[in-house]
Amino acid sequence: VEIGLHNINGIIENIMPLIEADANKAGVHVDFRPAEQPLMVYADDKEIRQLVLNLARNAIEATPSRGAMSVRTALNEKAVCLTVTDTGEGIAPWNLEKIFDPFFTTKDAGTGLGLAICKSIIDRHHGRIDVQSQRGRGTVFTVELPVVA
Ligand code: ADP
Ligand code: MG
Repeated sequence: VEIGLHNINGIIENIMPLIEADANKAGVHVDFRPAEQPLMVYADDKEIRQLVLNLARNAIEATPSRGAMSVRTALNEKAVCLTVTDTGEGIAPWNLEKIFDPFFTTKDAGTGLGLAICKSIIDRHHGRIDVQSQRGRGTVFTVELPVVA
């Protein structure tokens, strides 16, 4: 891990073209809404890119054509908050506790590694991840990382 001081908005901006390309192919609308102010974190920028990409790809894969997904950042009391929201199929309640397990997948060709990798990246950055989902309506993944004041 190569930790440096980064504005998370800039890290996400760097990978938005990748996310937009995937979303365009799937017919999914993308909305990137960074906080107005820079949000500074001590982080490995490569790992944060991987984290956002994994969440965004899942969001796109879960969302039917003409649906939407968004990536937002905001500042809480003491944390940088990153949310990835989609209007996709949602996650069954009985699967919610399994999705971060390595190799858990509901996809035909899934690896089940994306969220396990997200979890380990967040652990290394002393953050947390939370998921809220409604079947048939969509899913919100919320990541909190310690902010550098
Ligand atoms: P994979 O994408 O290879 O299946 P992941 O670890 O990325 O592996 O995700 C694990 C499982 O979590 C997925 O198979 C899917 O069932 C569920 N999942 C993750 N993100 C979403 C989402 N945004 N909407 C619906 N289900 C999701
Ligand atoms: Mg995945």
